[in-house]
Amino acid sequence: MPRTAYVNGRYVPHRRAAVHVEDRGYQFADGVYEVIAVQGGWLVDLEPHLRRLARSLGELAIPRPMSDAALRHVLAEVRRRNRVQDGMVYLQVTRGIAARDHAWPKGLKPALVVTAKSSKGPPAEAREKGVSVLSMPDLRWKRCDIKTTSLLPNVLAKQAARDGAAFEALFVDEAGRVTEGSSTNVWIVTKKGRLLTRAPDAAILNGITRQAVIALARAAGFEFEERAFTLREVRNAAEAFLTSTTAFIVPVIAIDGTRIGDGTPGPLTRRLNTRYRDYVARAVRAGDRRHAS
Ligand code: PMP
Repeated sequence: MPRTAYVNGRYVPHRRAAVHVEDRGYQFADGVYEVIAVQGGWLVDLEPHLRRLARSLGELAIPRPMSDAALRHVLAEVRRRNRVQDGMVYLQVTRGIAARDHAWPKGLKPALVVTAKSSKGPPAEAREKGVSVLSMPDLRWKRCDIKTTSLLPNVLAKQAARDGAAFEALFVDEAGRVTEGSSTNVWIVTKKGRLLTRAPDAAILNGITRQAVIALARAAGFEFEERAFTLREVRNAAEAFLTSTTAFIVPVIAIDGTRIGDGTPGPLTRRLNTRYRDYVARAVRAGDRRHAS
């Protein structure tokens, strides 16, 4: 089935979808994005994604391309036209098209692109057996809370992980503390059974999956704290895992070749995973299918 993309007001065949050479997203990575998971035709946690998008745009003084109601419609329509039941919807807003100059002219119209594709998420093996990760210095800027398309350090880190046969690269700041993964948030369970993830400061993206898992951990009464932890604490942890829209919850069983815990997905990770899957399944069943066909 041919795919369809939305580009600046038009639904076009995906293979012919294109933006202008002077789109500031292309020239300066001057834009933001969101990736929203689709499960059973439902756009998972759509509202928090829209709120985060509005925040990212606001921080960069990029006007909203359209109202949230119109955007919900476009997202649903792109999902529907691509017949995605399980997969993702991608949206990107750039500052717009202008003659190349670092500073931008007044009155630019932001550019909006939306695509959708079916996918099964991370391989079952990663989710069931866990994955290895590598650590890497965090070379990024000081506003990682903004979900910008400017992802070069993340791209290089993920490639280095892949070249090293690892699933993810964990960024470590100058004080030896883990910030986040190249496209995931990082969690550990200490040997005392305390669940930790870094507080949402400017060094990390406040993941939507992260926020959902925090709510689930609190509801379940797990001992939980939002605080930064060091690479050493990861090595000494009983369990570790990653969260993201596309990976959901992925157990981490080794870092830089050192086993974490007993080298298998831990019990708390498994319980949270079950709760997260139930949460998504419940939401699909509950008929929150406004965006489904
Ligand atoms: N951190 C970074 C750097 C990311 O790119 C992502 C994925 N968008 C995440 C964390 C996880 O965020 P979310 O749960 O919203 O996908």
